[in-house]
Amino acid sequence: MNKVVESALNKQIQKEMASAYLYLSIAAYCEGKNLKGFAHWFEFQAKEEMNHAMKIYRYIYSRGGNVEFLALEQPKAKINSPMDTLVAALDHEKYITSEIHKLFKLSVEKEDYATQSFLKWFIDEQVEEEESVVELIEKLKLTGEKGGAFYMFDKEMGKRE
Ligand code: MG
Repeated sequence: MNKVVESALNKQIQKEMASAYLYLSIAAYCEGKNLKGFAHWFEFQAKEEMNHAMKIYRYIYSRGGNVEFLALEQPKAKINSPMDTLVAALDHEKYITSEIHKLFKLSVEKEDYATQSFLKWFIDEQVEEEESVVELIEKLKLTGEKGGAFYMFDKEMGKRE
């Protein structure tokens, strides 16, 4: 595999793991606020990010490359409300989408067709990720952040599987 592509894929593993770390920190915030449904949703999200990292991990080895683990920074989301958790998730997913697109562009430049095909799953996944968070934000705008409707919303967040 092209060394530049291999290095960029390793950096993407780091970004997916950093995503998991970020989402777990948001889950912990929610636990602290007794938002059990939100906490479950973000914990689930963190596990999905680890799965994304593992997909790339396996792919690098399937191409005869080497996985390198890069340092993770402390997650620094500024969360003060349930809406903040979802807005942070959307902002972060938009950033990840642009990184996946850059990775795809690089694999086109390096004429790495296998990596282009591999990344297609991630491109589609990002569309879903952003769509689902936007939906939750819109719902939360309707319910507001207290009372019975919000209680039901939190319960629904807890049903993610
Ligand atoms: Mg991801």
